[in-house]
Amino acid sequence: MRSIKVGVLGFQGAIEEHVDITRRALKEAGLSGEVNVVRRLEEVEVLDGLIIPGGESTVIGSMMERTGIMDYLRRTRGKFPVFGTCAGMIVLSRKVKDRVLGDTNQPTAGILDVSVERNSFGRQGDSFETELEIPAIGGLYRGVFIRAPIILDVGSEVEVLCRLNGRIVAVQQEKIMATAFHPELTDDPRIHIFFIKKIISD
Ligand code: GLN
Repeated sequence: MRSIKVGVLGFQGAIEEHVDITRRALKEAGLSGEVNVVRRLEEVEVLDGLIIPGGESTVIGSMMERTGIMDYLRRTRGKFPVFGTCAGMIVLSRKVKDRVLGDTNQPTAGILDVSVERNSFGRQGDSFETELEIPAIGGLYRGVFIRAPIILDVGSEVEVLCRLNGRIVAVQQEKIMATAFHPELTDDPRIHIFFIKKIISD
């Protein structure tokens, strides 16, 4: 196959970590391609897939609105491969609620048919690492959670990839993938390999 172009949205979050692990994932999947940081619509339009890092979802969301990237995701709905981690998952979802503040009116693409709760683990669970079971990538996986959201409910097109104590923390829908945790902060590229395979599959 031709060389694939993956972009990491460069507004906020562990941007370089996503770039590094995606490059590693390409290599381990035996694929040629390039991974670049992107911030403008023109840069996104030429990609085969986009990764949206964690950070602050209200900030990332408003930058995406301002640059037209949010509208691009709405227009290409489900056909353009997108992977959102943590805040990146929030900005893809249909509905967002804050654990303390209730419904938020923050901008989201609304292309992933899930409703999410922000900052869902509360103060005690602010930041933690835990063992997860993710059959789609071959089983046990160490998840890093930082002020993580969870998915409260999913539409019929959404496939749940992982639960933590019964709560949904990873999903896919068509070419869209989302995790409440941060796979770029581990040494394990399997989640990114899974996304890259989604990019190249028909
Ligand atoms: N709590 C953040 C938000 O709602 C997400 C945290 C993260 O991306 N690590 O935007």
